[in-house]
Amino acid sequence: MKRFWSRLRKVALGGGMVGLGTWFFMRTTFTVSDAEALRRGETLIQNSKRALVIAAHPDDVEWYIAGTLKRLTEQGAKVYVVIATDGEKGPNKVNSPNLAATRRMEQEEAGAVIGYEEIFFFGLPDRESAKDKARLREKIDEVWQQVKPEVVFTFDPRYWQLPYLHPDHEGTGGVVQDYWRSLMSDRPALYFFHSRRPNTAINVEPVLEAKRQALMAHQSQGISERAAQFNFSNLRKLNGQRVEALREETP
Ligand SMILES: [Zn+2]
Repeated sequence: MKRFWSRLRKVALGGGMVGLGTWFFMRTTFTVSDAEALRRGETLIQNSKRALVIAAHPDDVEWYIAGTLKRLTEQGAKVYVVIATDGEKGPNKVNSPNLAATRRMEQEEAGAVIGYEEIFFFGLPDRESAKDKARLREKIDEVWQQVKPEVVFTFDPRYWQLPYLHPDHEGTGGVVQDYWRSLMSDRPALYFFHSRRPNTAINVEPVLEAKRQALMAHQSQGISERAAQFNFSNLRKLNGQRVEALREETP
């Protein structure tokens, strides 16, 4: 019996160490100083006039980066958005008979709040956006050539952030990253959201109300005031300001 308890203690201790190690490894940390991250964020906002955001579902863009995009549109930048799927397998809290159509409408509504120039709906199957990588890449190429972005935002396919994982998120980000790497010249800056290794911080404190309103447009997802607030509390805080954290890919 004594041996049993000592063995159990060892297992528990071992499990605890693994848990602690995983937490330490997976936690979100800036890879540059706070001041440097904020400086990079301001440079990004001041210098970008044409942005392309590539996400998987209606509401992704608002959760992760709507504050940054609002700051860009306020500066006169044109923001184009790609939504790879209609999120037809997501929650349907409004009992819509056609969830895909409802979610497109909600995305348009959110887009009007932030001021997106245009939203491209690819209509790929939900949870399988990157199953046919060649198809997704072809569609991205088409929009990319049309928009000619100076800066591109997508999910971080490598240093994704826990606890939320979705194959469409990492999959879409991976296809965008591969495409970007294949470009020879005139490669735009590439930034990842939902990253646990950010190096850029956008101060979104002045535009939080717009972000809240854009999030609330996604009523089919049952996004409550509370959830919107939770999202705010989930933002990082640097120098007393709430920020959206991004990772700029190194060329
Ligand atoms: Zn999503």
